[in-house]
Amino acid sequence: MLTLVEEAHMTTQAGHRPRVVIIGSGFGGLFAARALKRDAVDVTLVAKTTHHLFQPLLYQVATGIMSMGEIAPATREVLSRQDNVEVVLGDVTDIDLEKRVVTANTLGEVHTHDYDHLIVAAGANQSWFGRDEFAEYAPGMKSIDDALELRGRIFGAFELAEQAAAEGRLEDVKRFTTFVVVGAGPTGVEMAGQLVELSKRTLKHDFRHIDPTDSRVILLDAAPALLGSFDEKLQDKTRQALEKLGVEVRLGAKVVNVDGRGLETEDSEGNRTRIEALTKVWAAGVAASPLAKQLADQVGVTVDRAGRIPAQPDLTLPGRPEVHVVGDMVTLDGLSGVAQVAIQGARHSAKEIRRRINGEPTGAPFRYKDKGSMATISRFRAIAEVGSLKLTGFVAWLMWLAVHLVYIIGFKSRITTLLHWFVSFIGRGRSERAVTEQQTFARLAMQQMERPVDLRKVSERPPASVD
Ligand SMILES: Cc1cc2nc3c(=O)[nH]c(=O)nc-3n(C[C@H](O)[C@H](O)[C@H](O)COP(=O)(O)OP(=O)(O)OC[C@H]3O[C@@H](n4cnc5c(N)ncnc54)[C@H](O)[C@@H]3O)c2cc1C
Repeated sequence: MLTLVEEAHMTTQAGHRPRVVIIGSGFGGLFAARALKRDAVDVTLVAKTTHHLFQPLLYQVATGIMSMGEIAPATREVLSRQDNVEVVLGDVTDIDLEKRVVTANTLGEVHTHDYDHLIVAAGANQSWFGRDEFAEYAPGMKSIDDALELRGRIFGAFELAEQAAAEGRLEDVKRFTTFVVVGAGPTGVEMAGQLVELSKRTLKHDFRHIDPTDSRVILLDAAPALLGSFDEKLQDKTRQALEKLGVEVRLGAKVVNVDGRGLETEDSEGNRTRIEALTKVWAAGVAASPLAKQLADQVGVTVDRAGRIPAQPDLTLPGRPEVHVVGDMVTLDGLSGVAQVAIQGARHSAKEIRRRINGEPTGAPFRYKDKGSMATISRFRAIAEVGSLKLTGFVAWLMWLAVHLVYIIGFKSRITTLLHWFVSFIGRGRSERAVTEQQTFARLAMQQMERPVDLRKVSERPPASVD
């Protein structure tokens, strides 16, 4: 085993600056790269998308408030002035901890990256709790593709309802204008609130045969309370506010079946209820990137039920002080999968790498500073919990607005975001209602390509119809 100083000497002898490979361009990856800005290291950031994604505002892309570019700036552009970083598009398929090599695939081209230090921040994917077949009818919301597909389904459902109403098919109208959101965490609450605002304000005057204000929005959760991680009083206030808006909140309702026409829930006594609804949004459950399991197998630890790898207190892996894991793919001290945990973990890891390179003692435990949590309910209404301070209503909403503006990456995005919010919250318009057929059907079409069929049949399906 080499001492730190010996290792630093070896690096100098090898004739290159320490190489830091970062996997992921989310909150963990991007903030790790930025934290190494002033260090004499060569950073390679490998991510499977060319953008950094601001996931907390995906629901606003899905409901037509914001454009995808505003929440997904190009990583290259964000890091263009940071000379010690190279950005690589690549889906990492293999991490060899023994050889210190990362293998990635860029659009079919395989390439490898040697590292001296590695930060893995590959995040998490949606989980349907072992029922992946639900995904076709109840897509999740983890990527730009998901948000655009949902936008297509939501606006498409109103189009189908208008057509059905014109033809007098009233049962179909009800099904087409019933929206179910599964999962009453912050994302589900925000999505439900926006669906109501969309139907009751934005679309109010846009149709001739249906009245969009008659739409139903149902928010479901298997748990007995919504916003499980928040204070009980805030939970109650949120529920009251949602119900006042017109959202039907059903708790203790576990989804047991989903199909094109609706879904079925089961209560704690085993009673089943069927809801006829064309559009379902899955906002429940995450599963860590499969890279977590790959790393866990190599260092002999076991991932948890959500596939997250247990990290050492300093966010390294056992016996691998050169490997740091941060963000949603990690489990440590019961910390939640939120942006601040990823950002602070990334900064901690960058600091530890700096100390290691300088031959200083390392292994400082990661100490998370809880800056609070918040969720919006509708325009001008939010809840916020910062330490013992509990805020609701307009003040909380202003706080939500300020925090989100600070963390949206880039000056340009902040200005256009403010403009879009102005249009949607002060007025009743939505600037981003455009939907292309390809966006709505891309995922299904690609699945069909795996078992060759006549693709024209896929594209000939009516918008939003998943029957
Ligand atoms: C809809 C939604 C709403 C949310 N709202 C909030 C909120 O209001 N407040 C809050 O604090 N948090 C919120 N979160 C959670 C927050 O977004 C995450 O905690 C945060 O993004 C985690 O950062 P991360 O870097 O660990 O992962 P991510 O941000 O998910 O980044 C993972 C990165 O790894 C890349 N990647 C994955 N696999 C590979 C691979 N094999 N090869 C190469 N690259 C790979 C991805 O492309 C991505 O760039 C929300 C999440 C969602 C989905």
